[in-house]
Amino acid sequence: MNLIKEQDRKLKGFTVLVVEDNELNQQVAKGLLEYNGATVALANHGEEALDMLSRSSFDCVLMDIQMPVMDGLEATRLIRANPQRSDALIIAVTANADQHHKDLCRDAGMNDFLAKPIDPEQLVSTLLKWLAPGSGAADAAASTEK
Ligand SMILES: [Mg+2]
Repeated sequence: MNLIKEQDRKLKGFTVLVVEDNELNQQVAKGLLEYNGATVALANHGEEALDMLSRSSFDCVLMDIQMPVMDGLEATRLIRANPQRSDALIIAVTANADQHHKDLCRDAGMNDFLAKPIDPEQLVSTLLKWLAPGSGAADAAASTEK
């Protein structure tokens, strides 16, 4: 039995690529997104994310910063440099939530910024702000924040 009401699935129909090297963080993000109705794919680092983005399209990329092989900043720069994906929605997810790191993310081309540990309501409202602007859904999600 599914206990989640259909109207609570605010991210239904959206696909999200979670780029994150920590398995626990992967599962937390995936669980929160799927709980809200999104379809989720996982990449373990930036290079894997670029490979997946070359084969499928996603409505949003949640990008960790510190990862082996290729970090989130470099992956974002390379995504932005590709004309076919330059308008991708990329949201940084990082424990370093100070202004310096926010600036680094913005300079690399990220659209927005989420602090770890991920706040469930903030995750939904931030995604909706970009994915469904003006729908009222983002405001509704934001208004439930404590
Ligand atoms: Mg990491």
